[in-house]
Amino acid sequence: MARRARLQLGFTLLVGGLGWGVLAAWSVVAPATPPAPVTFLAFLAVLLATRLMAFRIVPDSVLSLDTGVHVAAAAALGPLPAGQLVALALTLDAAIRLLRERRGVAGEGVGYVLYFGGVTGALVAATAAAVGPPAATASELEVTVRVLAMAGALLLVHNAVQGVRLALGGRALPAYLRGQALPGMVAELALLPLAAVVVVLYHADRMLGFGLLAGTYVLVNLVFNRLSRASAALRARVRELEILDTTARGLAASLELPQLVATIARETLRAIPAAEAMALVHRGAERETDRFVADCHDRERQVFTRLRIGRTEGATGRVVAAQAPLLIDDLAHSDVDLGPAGTGGVRSWLGVPVFLHGACEGVLAVQSRQAGVFTAQDQRLLESLALQVAAALENAHLYEMAMVDGLTGLFVRRYFDARIEEEIERSRRFGTPFAVVMIDIDDFKRLNDTHGHLAGDRVLREVASVVRTQMRGVDTAARYGGEELALILPRTELVSALTQAERVRAAVAELRVAAGEDGPVLAVTASFGIAAYPESGAHTAEELVRRADRALYRAKRTGKDRVELFWSDDSGRTASGASAPPATTTPVPAVPPVPAVPSVPVPVPAVAVPGDGRAGAAGVTMPG
Ligand code: GH3
Ligand code: MG
Ligand code: MG
Repeated sequence: MARRARLQLGFTLLVGGLGWGVLAAWSVVAPATPPAPVTFLAFLAVLLATRLMAFRIVPDSVLSLDTGVHVAAAAALGPLPAGQLVALALTLDAAIRLLRERRGVAGEGVGYVLYFGGVTGALVAATAAAVGPPAATASELEVTVRVLAMAGALLLVHNAVQGVRLALGGRALPAYLRGQALPGMVAELALLPLAAVVVVLYHADRMLGFGLLAGTYVLVNLVFNRLSRASAALRARVRELEILDTTARGLAASLELPQLVATIARETLRAIPAAEAMALVHRGAERETDRFVADCHDRERQVFTRLRIGRTEGATGRVVAAQAPLLIDDLAHSDVDLGPAGTGGVRSWLGVPVFLHGACEGVLAVQSRQAGVFTAQDQRLLESLALQVAAALENAHLYEMAMVDGLTGLFVRRYFDARIEEEIERSRRFGTPFAVVMIDIDDFKRLNDTHGHLAGDRVLREVASVVRTQMRGVDTAARYGGEELALILPRTELVSALTQAERVRAAVAELRVAAGEDGPVLAVTASFGIAAYPESGAHTAEELVRRADRALYRAKRTGKDRVELFWSDDSGRTASGASAPPATTTPVPAVPPVPAVPSVPVPVPAVAVPGDGRAGAAGVTMPG
């Protein structure tokens, strides 16, 4: 147990024990005439009823407006019997709450039960005795003054003791005063006039007046109770709507699947604070039907993991089969198997279906190693999130269909054009260079003519695949036209681009593709032209591409299967080897060189090759 918690428990036990000790010693040293059983029971009933109406003003503190009843009891029955009555009622109440909340019979719970009744009972008796209860013959004014004085003293001392106890447990005093003590005291004060009237009208033989007023007292508590519940529900709803609102914005800003998955993970964990990890189980970029992709994110370790799971596997399989949410309080006492990744001591699990056009397209799930942490409210929130997630996944899919070329799996030209504009903008702003590489397969027409279009298609697909595997995550590869591919290499100068392109060229040249079932094995080469920004002097995307094309053209003319660079003074007429720029010409950028500031963080898309998942780090165990 932490030091603060030990300190607080010590104080709770000490002060609680002291309270009971004072009451016991008092009963022995100066015993009071016990009140008539009916009177005692009537006050006990009213006290228990007000406790039953207790409500929360802050999450960890229960308030009930019972000071008026304590004081009325002290005035009517005398200090000691009132103290005993209060001690008994509050101990009963605290014990019942402890049992109901099933917090176990741990030290803190029992300590609090002892403390709550003992301290309050002793304080009621002591403050009443100190102020002095009104005599039977006292005037109405005197009764009122004494009731108010007793209540004031009781509230001050009681809240002070409670403040010390919470401060020992680490609660900041100003927060306690503002959030709990002052609002509580003001609410109690509101009911004190009623307490004064109860005492003025009180007569042991005529209990009707007492009963009616006490009923009003309890009803006022009931109203407070309902208001507090309504406002708590409203606060929860407002929080939910705020979360859904920010989530909607976040999801709307993420069109590509990897970013979308990251946004969903971030928003889900923000919405469900009790979740230690989340998983989005979906059909993935390939839209598989019998297998799902599970993108998992661990809050603490901040790592993403991607698993592949069967549609019917594990807890998510159940959600998919039932097409309904599944909330598991404790996996240790459940027959549900979390599936392939169900290790790591997961206890609580909550999963909801992700519906699209009426079909279950996946599951959104959260988990924790603590049992019983997810609530019905979490479930409702997760279901609302799942609705947004479904729409966002659909958008990402449509976006991908529009932006990814079906044959090669590379981005389409339109996407390339947009990206290049972005890259120019970024380069201007941050002063970082970038390069564009145009690739054209050599003698492709002849290959088509000799081996058929299907073989040509296969070669094209394989070349695209080679290009993709040779690229960094930040690069963009697109199919620019028929058998022409184009690359954007961010933060890459001309010479580095040459190294990269040379690597791709060599990999393509090594490629061997079977022309058909029994057909020959084909070799293929490609030519490359590179232009860099701002090095080439191009001002626009169009100019830049044209310059890279000019270098490509030179590669074709000078023998193919080679890489050529565009130099800023390149007229396109002089041939120059890729690896050896002409000694007579020095690259001079036509636009003033932008200072390269490598330390400036440049936002780059996580992955710019379509269909490629985020790099999955090892780690989190999420269910299938
Ligand atoms: P070069 O080395 O000069 O590039 O010669 P080439 O034959 O490749 O000439 P060019 O680039 O002009 O020819 C492109 C050919 O690529 C024409 C077309 O038949 C073929 N082609 C374009 N798109 C596709 C495609 O999607 N599939 C197949 N199989 N062939 C394509
Ligand atoms: Mg061509
Ligand atoms: Mg060609």
